[in-house]
Amino acid sequence: MIRINENYLKLKSSYLFSEISRRVNAFQEEHPDREIIRMGIGDVTLPLPSEIIKAFHAGVEEMADSKTFRGYGPEQGYDFLRETVAQNDYRSRGADISTDEVFISDGAKCDTGNFQELFSNDTRIAIPDPVYPVYVDTNVMAGRTGINNNGRYENLVYMNCTNANGFIPELPSEEVDLIYLCFPNNPTGAVITKEQLKSWVEFAHKNRALILYDAAYESFIRDNSLPKTIYEIDGAREVAVEFRSFSKTAGFTGTRCAFTVVPKDCMAYDATGNKHSIHSMWNRRHTTKFNGVSYPVQKAAEAVYSPEGKKQVKEIIDYYMENAKIIKEKMTALGYESTGGDNSPYIWINTKTDSWKFFDMLLTKLGIVCTPGEGFGRCGEGYIRISAFNDRENVVKAMEKISGL
Ligand code: PLP
Repeated sequence: MIRINENYLKLKSSYLFSEISRRVNAFQEEHPDREIIRMGIGDVTLPLPSEIIKAFHAGVEEMADSKTFRGYGPEQGYDFLRETVAQNDYRSRGADISTDEVFISDGAKCDTGNFQELFSNDTRIAIPDPVYPVYVDTNVMAGRTGINNNGRYENLVYMNCTNANGFIPELPSEEVDLIYLCFPNNPTGAVITKEQLKSWVEFAHKNRALILYDAAYESFIRDNSLPKTIYEIDGAREVAVEFRSFSKTAGFTGTRCAFTVVPKDCMAYDATGNKHSIHSMWNRRHTTKFNGVSYPVQKAAEAVYSPEGKKQVKEIIDYYMENAKIIKEKMTALGYESTGGDNSPYIWINTKTDSWKFFDMLLTKLGIVCTPGEGFGRCGEGYIRISAFNDRENVVKAMEKISGL
């Protein structure tokens, strides 16, 4: 008899987006003539820029010619892309990352979800609340938690991110082994300073812990004093793995390309305390379970770093950040406190009421869809997330409607 992994039964159904759809569909059925503006989506709206498309096409053409055709590529990614990433995203910022420490993949979602596989089942895990749900659910599936009680899984160490701490988690008072951090943050849009990040690196050293640092929104950082990578912090090479993605940076959500940096200095321990290289383990896992990102996609990703590619990508990010500015200014003028929007595409708004109530009010009165914060964790109650990934026209129209409330 085939038996299930019963840890799956512990998973709280990811009701957030299905509940949003249910409410939006019900509203639309009742009011077929009303316009709906979706301000909750975490997906990009602008197409891939021409320089990237050009490289993508050239890669496809190479596949059509027997002289340049390629079959399986290296699982870890082609050296041309690994080297370009290591040079442009790290070494040019003074972060000492070598080409073979960069693992190209088809998404930061899979990598942030899969990385926990390397660690023992009794790993003590620190999770921010609110949180990108992938970190939690993959640990539930792996059996590292108890059941969900009132929106929180037993055996996880939740780090509350609230207005009181500026949505930056405080160092846990108990011992933890694996720490998930995400900056700029989804959903709060909060960013971390070098000083704050330094305290996490020191904490990880002290506890022989590992930080999984999700920097999927790094390209939205405007303030040059903020760290763009955790490897700008001394000592991070020994205690941190970093996840990045071309999804939001360059419009690859549907194209799929990302990378994970695993420094060779990162170590984890067996039951007798012997050190093992996390780089070697991830290399083993990646080459066993993954067969590489397609060649044309990697050529397209390489073009993100060409001078023209950089210029075009910057224009796209500037466009979304202008949306963020419009949203933030309008909500501030209306008296709503918020975080995010300055160095991130998400604006996290304190509604001073129940987040679903506010969601329903925006939907039924104005036809605007946002994301209720409660869906990201207990600390999200009372907040909504508005996304800057949208057409300007929609953003302006939505903000005009909100102003008229
Ligand atoms: N990490 C965070 C914090 C995200 O918000 C997202 C996507 O929304 C991802 C990772 C996933 O990125 P990718 O498209 O590379 O899988």
